[in-house]
Amino acid sequence: MLDQGEWTAGEISRAVHIPQKEVYAHLGHIMKSLRGDFRMVPAECLACGFKFSKRKSVQSPSRCPLCKNEHIKDPAYFRRATGTGKKEQADRESGETQ
Ligand SMILES: [Zn+2]
Repeated sequence: MLDQGEWTAGEISRAVHIPQKEVYAHLGHIMKSLRGDFRMVPAECLACGFKFSKRKSVQSPSRCPLCKNEHIKDPAYFRRATGTGKKEQADRESGETQ
């Protein structure tokens, strides 16, 4: 489902009917398996606009480190589109030589 746009943990939770806590656990696994293809839109403080861009965890931060505000926009997750197609091309080439 991450192939289809950006999802927050709350949206995934509602879509697949599992608790948000479990969504985070799944996202942790997905992040490991997709590696570089897993992308995260950083969480953002709604009060001062601070972006949690260096945050590695998939979980939404509870409060802003700058202004201590707890109104945080949840991070969203998506899978990077494989635009280059390099791997597919390599697979095809190796197939032809055999
Ligand atoms: Zn803030």
